[in-house]
Amino acid sequence: MTEIVQEIKDISDVEWVSTRITERLAASGDTTGIPYYHFRWKKKWLADYVAWPRNAEQVAAIIKFAQKNQIAVVPRGGGTCYYGSASPTRGGVIVDTKPLDKIIEINKEKMWAHIQSGIVWEVLDRKLAKQGLALKVTPQSAPASTIAGWLAIGGKAGIGTPKYGTILDNILEMEVVRPDGTIETITGADMETFYGTSGIAGIVVSLKLSIREMPERTDGLMFSFDSIEHACHLTEELASTSIKPVYLRVTDPEYEWRSQGGLPQNSRKGCFVLVTYDGTADQVEKGIEYARNLFKKAGGTDVGKEHYQKSWDDRFIIEMKLKLEVPTLSMQNFWMKPKNVSHLARKMYEIADKYKINSCYYMVLGAGGMVRFCAFAPSDHRYWMHFMSGKAMLHKLVKMGFKYDAKLYTLGLQNTVYLKKYQKKEYNHFKTVRDQWDPNGLMNPDKLTGSNLSYSRLNLMFTMNGWIRRLMTLFRVARNILQVPRWVKERT
Ligand SMILES: Cc1cc2nc3c(=O)[nH]c(=O)nc-3n(C[C@H](O)[C@H](O)[C@H](O)COP(=O)(O)OP(=O)(O)OC[C@H]3O[C@@H](n4cnc5c(N)ncnc54)[C@H](O)[C@@H]3O)c2cc1C
Repeated sequence: MTEIVQEIKDISDVEWVSTRITERLAASGDTTGIPYYHFRWKKKWLADYVAWPRNAEQVAAIIKFAQKNQIAVVPRGGGTCYYGSASPTRGGVIVDTKPLDKIIEINKEKMWAHIQSGIVWEVLDRKLAKQGLALKVTPQSAPASTIAGWLAIGGKAGIGTPKYGTILDNILEMEVVRPDGTIETITGADMETFYGTSGIAGIVVSLKLSIREMPERTDGLMFSFDSIEHACHLTEELASTSIKPVYLRVTDPEYEWRSQGGLPQNSRKGCFVLVTYDGTADQVEKGIEYARNLFKKAGGTDVGKEHYQKSWDDRFIIEMKLKLEVPTLSMQNFWMKPKNVSHLARKMYEIADKYKINSCYYMVLGAGGMVRFCAFAPSDHRYWMHFMSGKAMLHKLVKMGFKYDAKLYTLGLQNTVYLKKYQKKEYNHFKTVRDQWDPNGLMNPDKLTGSNLSYSRLNLMFTMNGWIRRLMTLFRVARNILQVPRWVKERT
């Protein structure tokens, strides 16, 4: 091992490559909302080395070295992605891109920032703010995730996406290192190979990102409603008008209760809709007025300025808050039309009641009027049957989701198993990219193009689990281990 590290250093001038167990451990997992078994059930889930390159030449040298020695390369940003996307499955080298954090140039005339790809969103945002500038789009993981990390998972729902589009829509050009170590600058349609492909086409090193002037005002409102159907309808309405919100999120009572430590007084039991506008003071006023009228017509109840503000301020930690509130959190993400969400949400409640487990959801408006719908199964993995039943519920939702044209939002390691069966078009696209750019299959293996877990086995396991849990509930031996007050569970 030491020899290999030495060789990497010799050929590349990479400042630091480590084989220390602490660093390999820290870089191999996911710091997010899923239990660690998602990557640990792979035999070689631990990286052999971690490298911290600072420029394209160093990235190229690492990749060339990996090709020469036929070892896996796993690009990594903030490691905040769900589903083990940046976790090794065959050891190899993790290319930690966080040291690629330079701002190369900010062009105020053409309104772009030329940056290295490993810069953390929030850091960039703060630096732009000092010059009166702002980002157009950001994921809600902005305090920890990197620009290229969001690009590589195919980011399209977050803050700014309803108004400014996907992350790819906001990139003007990028510098990449291909899996054979070639450094290239690409623009236009060529950039699509790097969008949502988890690094299988190579590593993005720097890019030009479209930016804007700091908005004059940012403000919004939050209402509660009697049913999820209200939220689906209102989301569609708000997404299709000319005054686009900069952010829109819907939460159900359990999600709101867990993440905010309570529900606002007099709130309705169906769901909560938060919408935010930005721009000139006039544009924001018009947006708020429009949404308020719509919400009132739908019979909603204003939860008040204070709760709105608290919820908006929480936008970067809202997903993590839930994780902090429950011992183990399983989730599944869907990319779908808002009008179809209620079918999935209602099915989720129905299964959860049958299995005697918890469930809640959260949804965010993305680009093109579509939403990222996140279904959660809060649990505690020490109570194995409860935990596995949550997973079984999410599996059922995946199967059902495809009937409603829902695609899996994040793929990574966990969801690759579903691709071949349910998302043939995307699977074929990933196969083409892999075959063209990474024929040796060394770039982020076991992601997108091949899973060594069979779908039939997975399906059988969860189906059997569902039957057993159902019998347990019928014979009254199933117990829900996470309690929710009755008034929160009175879903309407
Ligand atoms: C609290 C929280 C909030 C979130 N909010 C949102 C949200 O609003 N919207 C949303 O879409 N998602 C959201 N996510 C999930 C989202 O996928 C990640 O947060 C984030 O975009 C991933 O960035 P990262 O830098 O952490 O990438 P990582 O997790 O490190 O990597 C993600 C993928 O990108 C690849 N990759 C990383 N860097 C490069 C590179 N330079 N070149 C090529 N490939 C690379 C990795 O191999 C991996 O496949 C959230 C997650 C959390 C924990």
